[in-house]
Parts: sequence; structure tokens; C-alpha cells
Amino acid sequence: MKILSGVHNHTTFSDGAESAAEMAARALELGFVSFGVSDHSDTPWDDPADCLHRENYPAYLRAVAEVKERFAGTLEVLCGIEKDRESEVDLSAFDYVIGSVHFLPGKSGDCYSIDYPVKKQYDFLRFECGGDKLEFARRYFDAVADHAARCPFPILGHFDVITKYGLFDDAGDAYRAIALSALDAVLESTPYIEVNTGALSRHGREEPYPAGYLLRRVREKGGRVILGADAHAAADLDGGFDRAVTLLKQAGFDRVSRLRAFGFEEIGL
Ligand SMILES: [Zn+2]
Ligand SMILES: [Zn+2]
Repeated sequence: MKILSGVHNHTTFSDGAESAAEMAARALELGFVSFGVSDHSDTPWDDPADCLHRENYPAYLRAVAEVKERFAGTLEVLCGIEKDRESEVDLSAFDYVIGSVHFLPGKSGDCYSIDYPVKKQYDFLRFECGGDKLEFARRYFDAVADHAARCPFPILGHFDVITKYGLFDDAGDAYRAIALSALDAVLESTPYIEVNTGALSRHGREEPYPAGYLLRRVREKGGRVILGADAHAAADLDGGFDRAVTLLKQAGFDRVSRLRAFGFEEIGL
């Protein structure tokens, strides 16, 4: 079953390479029924080139509205936002929200990016956690659970993105217990867990975010999953989807969700 939908995508309004119109054109070519743009909300810690500038929110909304109009009748276009925990932004104007954690506060009040570049992740481990990976995991997953509890967003993005650079590849049961506990907490408030295939198509990982043992927990708890390519270019709009479907079946899922103009729908795998 082809998913034919994707709503975790970035454009030139944040750190994507192409416009919403260019990406929508590719989505239509792929036969998508729905396509969403979810550029990064602004935080004081982001490189200004990588997130929506505060003064650009109206232009972003207008640009996506124009694309909506242009593709009306052929492709459902949605205007979302990937909201960071460290971001203060009015969410009422968006069709949907993906909640993600990219930054963790340090002792000095500054935040560390734990998503990019790799050096920042190692800096956080070294200067904030004394080299203790489990402490790093606790801090990150506490932030994810807190974000989900405080902010009423429907989709939780890239749940275990701290695995991106391999730092936790050798982490054992203690690490997994921390992640599982946070996942249980997130599932209390968040109906859809994103299966982020950017891990597969762009980060060279063997598993999406979240990893297989976490996906099995989502299924056991009755949680729902939605695929997200986290595409930063039109060529990546369905990157990793086929592989993710295989992994979801292995984890026991027989359906996934997708977001349409009328809301979420479930489709069989
Ligand atoms: Zn993200
Ligand atoms: Zn993203």
C-alpha cells in the first residue's frame, strides 16, 4: 500500500531547498492525495537561516495559501508548523502542528541543538551531562514528554532523534527503559506518533525514528502512527516510505494514519 501523503516537509521559509509550490508539484507527480508544509518555528537558539523568522509567519501563511489555491481540485495542500519546545508561537493559524524537540536547555540558560550539527550534541553530552549518555537520554526524553504534556499538538515528531549520530547505538536496556517511559507519557496526550523516514532516506540509519522496539510499544498501547519524510527537498518527499511500511508490518501494524484536508484517516497496509 502506498501512503501517498506527507505532511512533514520543509521549504525555503526554513531550512528546505525548494518552495512549497515546487514541492507540491512533485507531490502531485507522485500521486499524493495530501501534502503539507511544516517549516520550523522560530526559537532564540536557531540559526536564522534554519527557521521561520518571526516577521515571516504572515508571508509563509500567504505563500502556502496560494499553493493551496493553485492545486485546488488536484492535491490537498495543508499549512502546518514543526513547533519546537523552545518556541513561543501562536499555533491557531496552522492546519496542524508537529511537536518536536531540537534544543535542550543548558546550565547557563543557553540551549544546545541536539539535532544538528553533531558537535552540539557532543558538547551537550560533555558539558551538561559529564559524558553520561543516560543522563543525556533522561534530559532529552524528559523534554519530549514535557513538550507533549504542555502543548496540545496532534503529531509527535522524530521521537528518538538523539540516535541520529549513533551515540546511543551501544546503549542497552537502561537507555531503552528511559525512552519507553517517555513514550508511554507522550501517548497519554498525543494521538499520532510520527514514523520519521528521514532517518532512513537522509541520515543513513537502519530504523526510522522511533526505532522498532518503540514502534512495538506504540502498537501495544493502541497508539497511531503517521509517516513523515521530513523532506528538505522535493526529491525526498516519499523517501524511506516503502522501507518504513515493511518495518511497521514487522512491528505488528496493519494500518497507518494520514492527514487529509478533512482530518486524519486510517489506511490499511
Ligand atoms: Zn525536526
Ligand atoms: Zn522537520
